[in-house]
Amino acid sequence: MRALGELLKAVDGEYAIKTAQELVRIPSENPPGREKDVTEYILRELKRLKFDDIKISEAEPDRPNIIAKLHGRLGTRTLLLNGHMDVVPAGSGWTVPPYGGVIRDGRLWGRGACDMKGGLAAILAVAKAYRDAALQPEGNILFTFVVDEEMGGKKGTGFLADRGLLKADMAIVAEPSNFRLSVSEGGVVWIKLIIHGKQAHTINAKAAINPIEKASKVIQELQRLNEKLQKLRHPKFGSPVLSVNVIRGGDKINIVPAQCVLQADLRLPPGIGISVKEAQAYIEQSLKELTIQDSLLRVEMEFSVVAYPFEQPEDTQIVELLKSATKAVLGHEAEWWHRDTGAILPKEDSDVFHLWTKCRIPSVYFGPGEVELAHAVDESIRIEEIVQAAKIFTLTAFMAVGG
Ligand SMILES: [Zn+2]
Repeated sequence: MRALGELLKAVDGEYAIKTAQELVRIPSENPPGREKDVTEYILRELKRLKFDDIKISEAEPDRPNIIAKLHGRLGTRTLLLNGHMDVVPAGSGWTVPPYGGVIRDGRLWGRGACDMKGGLAAILAVAKAYRDAALQPEGNILFTFVVDEEMGGKKGTGFLADRGLLKADMAIVAEPSNFRLSVSEGGVVWIKLIIHGKQAHTINAKAAINPIEKASKVIQELQRLNEKLQKLRHPKFGSPVLSVNVIRGGDKINIVPAQCVLQADLRLPPGIGISVKEAQAYIEQSLKELTIQDSLLRVEMEFSVVAYPFEQPEDTQIVELLKSATKAVLGHEAEWWHRDTGAILPKEDSDVFHLWTKCRIPSVYFGPGEVELAHAVDESIRIEEIVQAAKIFTLTAFMAVGG
């Protein structure tokens, strides 16, 4: 246990905070996808920490992903620590400079402070702790610093996963989660229905086909489907929801319009026995039957999957390790967080999705920062949480791959 004591002593809180601050000062907005300056900063840092196994892999020029490996003595097991380098655009309305990295009232302020430069800094602090304590773990620690998470990760973690570059026994994706554990996610699907009518003046309404009246039938059908879907239920995620949230049609009071557009949001929990594909087929079939009943109804459907639902077991080793490390550092157990990726942040698949569905690496979405502040104006993170995360990750690493 002396090794653990040495390692925990070597967790450098000031380093973690300073690194987070410096990272916030380097804009890496996505879109358009300008992570390169952050990549260079992290590469410099890894070289300073004497990493000799660093790979760069990019799906498109100037958007490099970093894979750095801390080789273990035996290399029997591998823990993966993942963080994304991109941030969403700052936008306007800030009362602090979004890339100033101001520390005030115990918080670091700026775009990305919470999502997730605080988490990135905490990961780097793990590497530094091992170096400063001059410990070589028994197993390996793989560090991945990726691009593109904010746009679905296809050029980041998804790309590395597709190329078979990620091999590990367990992973932590250090996203802001208020130190809650999330391993499974609900799906988000956006449905656009274009209902075509036939335009005419009201006085010729008999010759027209009114798409708004037709839309009312479609809405009723979707409501009926929603009621059916509500009968399915995940014990933790609850039931699916299909909600028509946008209706657009008509320009003038005296003209029957040519078109009416509906938009519906479908939230699909994992593990309820209906996949995104089946949900799509189900909706298509219902609309088809509707058009058989009403030959004047013409409806086109655009179905876009924002995020796929997926479910991992909750009793994995990485979950247990994170739970006990959190208890040791924070004094209380980490809670569960059952969410769909679009619950708070309207986004695409998370990096946990890529790690689990493509590589079958048990992965936990867990890290410092209040997720409500991610993507917000005046984003910030409590600096104490960055230090706590560094300690939790280091302790977890020690328990996972030894020291
Ligand atoms: Zn994030």
